[in-house]
Amino acid sequence: MGQTVTEKILDDHLVDGELTPGEEIGIEIDQVLTQDTTGTMVWLQFEALDMDEIQTELAAQYCDHQTYQFDFKNTDDHRFLRSAAGTYGAYFSRPGNGICHQVHKENFAAPGKTLLGSDSHTPTPGGLGQFAIGAGGLDIAVAMGGGAYYVEMPEVVNVHLEGELPEWATAKDIALHLLGELTVKGGVGKVFEYTGPGAESLTIPERTTITNLGTELGATSSIFPTDEKTKNWLARQGREDEYVELQPDEDAEYAEEITVNLDELEPLIACPSMPDKVVPVSEVAGTEVEQTIIGSCTNGAYEDILPAAKMLEGREIAKHTEMIIAPGSKQASEMLAREGWTAELMAAGVNFSEATCGACIGIGHVPASDSVSLRTFNRNFEGRSGIEDDSVYLCSPEVATAAAIKGEIVDPRDLADELGDLEAPGLEMGDSYTDGMGQDDADIITPEEAIDDELIKGPNIGDVPLRDGIDSDVAGEALLKMEDNITTDHIIPATADILKFRSNIDKLSDFTLSRIDDTFADRAREADGGVLVAGENYGQGSSREHAALCPMYLGIEAVFAQSFARIHKANLFNFGIVPLEIDADTYERIDQGDDVEILDDVDAAVRQGREEFDVRVNDDWEFTATLDASDRELEILAAGGKLSWTKQQHQSGS
Ligand code: SF4
Repeated sequence: MGQTVTEKILDDHLVDGELTPGEEIGIEIDQVLTQDTTGTMVWLQFEALDMDEIQTELAAQYCDHQTYQFDFKNTDDHRFLRSAAGTYGAYFSRPGNGICHQVHKENFAAPGKTLLGSDSHTPTPGGLGQFAIGAGGLDIAVAMGGGAYYVEMPEVVNVHLEGELPEWATAKDIALHLLGELTVKGGVGKVFEYTGPGAESLTIPERTTITNLGTELGATSSIFPTDEKTKNWLARQGREDEYVELQPDEDAEYAEEITVNLDELEPLIACPSMPDKVVPVSEVAGTEVEQTIIGSCTNGAYEDILPAAKMLEGREIAKHTEMIIAPGSKQASEMLAREGWTAELMAAGVNFSEATCGACIGIGHVPASDSVSLRTFNRNFEGRSGIEDDSVYLCSPEVATAAAIKGEIVDPRDLADELGDLEAPGLEMGDSYTDGMGQDDADIITPEEAIDDELIKGPNIGDVPLRDGIDSDVAGEALLKMEDNITTDHIIPATADILKFRSNIDKLSDFTLSRIDDTFADRAREADGGVLVAGENYGQGSSREHAALCPMYLGIEAVFAQSFARIHKANLFNFGIVPLEIDADTYERIDQGDDVEILDDVDAAVRQGREEFDVRVNDDWEFTATLDASDRELEILAAGGKLSWTKQQHQSGS
């Protein structure tokens, strides 16, 4: 039987298991990336593994999430990351050089290679035919130490794109269309592989916008086959020799087929506050807009910003609307400047941000209270922009620019009719683009150029907490009962005032679940730990392992949820917290404050591979919870987490 592109790459890298959907497989990792939020823990964990140097072909450390300096803590973290990259042999991308996914795409992403990154949007270079997965930081540290990465073999879904995008519909609308149809849970356990004439018609930046947003579907990864467009794009980056042809075999079998006819798409928008609340733009037209931002790792490439520049040529934005360009990389900023578009945008009233995540996680450009912000980003979870009552819509650069011109949400086709001289920008590029975009990246320090050979830790950089084994008796108060779709932003917010403690778990844990209950950390400390209860899709969103590490530090031993998001569940195993699934009736019946006691000897049951656990509530009623784990995950749990487990493995020489 023929193979899909996904199967071909995984087959090439398989070190354990078989490519049977649902079965755990171990794969060899060629490249890893990490960023500043997750990176400090990655390197502290790598140090704790007593490794001398990285074992993967390539590792890259980016500084993108928090590049603004409020005091010494963030600067110290960046210096520590630079010193770790130099000490262990990784590339270091300096703060301000851009967002990890864009910069990695430009400099290192290669078709046919595997990439593991401690950021949930790591699948972005799937648009170039790279098989890329987001994971917890500890998984990255282990991969850098030469360990395989273990993941459930996903089902491979074929998204067959027919036709071509009509004027004013964009790649963003393809992704939003899928989100509207499939929801934020629709991709769990799946890889989306895009084929067909519509896929071939898309540029590489358009493809990577779609693979970036695959994360919002909950997908393990997303990927496109490679072709002349991939080759030409790599050539423009000065990396043509890294091209590999990758196409599915003609008789490849997919688990599922989805067909999207691009001719039928129209400008779409995701309403507050979930990326799958998608409607046609015309449905919310007329809504006053105070802010629009174009950029981020989703739409931050030069080719994403260019349409805005073309639409604004000779125009001005509305007086009550602020428009910001937040480039995904310095390369994008540099190209805009070289081509003269920066001046055009500034003349139209647009402000420029440094190439950073910033506004995407509420660090800078926080919207005014009770106002609407249109962003070309990938997430609009409530409060993520930096204020609780935010109203953030997600859309294409064209829709965001149309709103900035009109001062309200407007279908760009209607605005074009109204103005008479507004043309759909298209994607023809200027001369510099044709000549090449790849410059020697002055903001990347290669391993050969390293300026440090030992770790430099400032006073805010603490130790990695370890859980040594798992308790036999797991009992405690249900400290918090939460709804469906609790995100890692809810568990540990990534705003500047909190993020500055990312390397100091004792301080950071004070903010655990504070967005739901600001007394949580105090209550957990007072109760000396306990358990959590949640609905569906617990832990969706980022790969942030702090969302498991901090609850572990506060003594949380188990989470009872109706279902878990993939990366967060892996992080719970990695930090020795038992992720137990419950049914809807149990979820309804159990209350915050209940006394919950697992009746089995948990340590023994985990070692025996028990799948069901009897649980008693308030000495009154009982239910059964399920532990869905591989043998390896059970071993990790029994060891108290992956760091302890990996150290044990090293000591035993296995
Ligand atoms: Fe940065 Fe936002 Fe992209 Fe995450 S989703 S990498 S925070 S721009």
